[in-house]
Amino acid sequence: MTKKILILPGDGIGPEIVAEAVKVIDCLRAHHGLAVETEHALVGGAAYEAAGSPLPEATLALAREADAVLLGAVGGPQWDALDRPLRPEQGLLGLRAGLELFANLRPAILYPQLAEASSLKPEVVAGLDILIVRELTGGIYFGRPRGVETLPDGRRRGFNTLVYTEDEIRRIARVAFEAARRRGRRVCSVDKANVLECTELWRQVVTETAADYPDVELSHMYVDNAAMQLVRAPKQFDVMVTTNMFGDILSDEAAMLTGSIGMLPSASLNAEGRGMYEPIHGSAPDIAGRGVANPLATILSVAMMLRHSLDEPELAARVEAAVGEVLDQGLRTADIAAPGTREVGTAEMGDAVVAALRT
Ligand code: NAD
Repeated sequence: MTKKILILPGDGIGPEIVAEAVKVIDCLRAHHGLAVETEHALVGGAAYEAAGSPLPEATLALAREADAVLLGAVGGPQWDALDRPLRPEQGLLGLRAGLELFANLRPAILYPQLAEASSLKPEVVAGLDILIVRELTGGIYFGRPRGVETLPDGRRRGFNTLVYTEDEIRRIARVAFEAARRRGRRVCSVDKANVLECTELWRQVVTETAADYPDVELSHMYVDNAAMQLVRAPKQFDVMVTTNMFGDILSDEAAMLTGSIGMLPSASLNAEGRGMYEPIHGSAPDIAGRGVANPLATILSVAMMLRHSLDEPELAARVEAAVGEVLDQGLRTADIAAPGTREVGTAEMGDAVVAALRT
């Protein structure tokens, strides 16, 4: 059956990098039997300019109908002064909430060809392949009550609420265990159970859920130690699963181990396995319009889409292999350029991946 992909280029470098990912999808359709239809819509600042909202109803409706959404990036300084509900980033949050995308998958993979790009010693990071599974729609970012109030004595008091129900914990734990089964069969659950009751429950529920996955090894780690271990000996991890806020922080830390923000994809999935796929970086206004952005994170997001929402794991592996091949050829965009490599622009990099896919 033909599946539907909604393409949301967004702002800044978004349209440039998404155009290269679309070339990859078109190549898979023309030469590798991928049965998909694509449709484009507006989100972020581009949608605000055209329709007065960062997430027009029409875009959300199309996203709900689609099997998968491919997003470039949103945001830019020209929209920073808008009221919060009108800012581009609200388009992203609205999509996450509207599609109930509770599971965020962020691989941190170091391509051997890029080992020198990491700020850590090559021997510490060579072969790094971690998957961080972050809970995305609960926890302290959404808990109520929240706010800033003024006390009777005039002092201001700010407060947020960390809250998880056991079903929220169980469903994200399942995503992590299922993912581990497709990889190294090890899950490390990260919490702060020694201080926070809510994550004491997290630890209990993850442990209960592990009973359904006897083939996967479960360990637990406090978040402060996890942050340290990620820079000390990151290769000890296979899959890490954690709360919304801890995952936000740890996934950025893990991404930086690989040295290049332009290489890392992400997936945000709902209970039916439908999802939104996007590079982890932002709209990079500093380089937008110059044709120098790295499109590989977006192309690798297509690979994640093939694997997680389109049930095409072999095509996913082909795309990943094609990216490896262009790196082997020595092609690099400016963000990953190194002595002895050939610097190319966004479109040339996309064309090279397509050429590698066709052979
Ligand atoms: P950024 O990720 O856009 O850029 C950080 C640095 O990395 C910049 O120097 C940029 O040039 C570089 N960079 C990023 N992607 C690159 C690529 N593909 N190739 C080469 N270099 C790349 O982060 P920022 O500057 O903090 O944010 C810029 C805008 O993006 C802001 O409006 C922010 O709100 C938004 N943002 C959006 C998302 C998203 O859409 N998911 C995520 C983060 C930030």
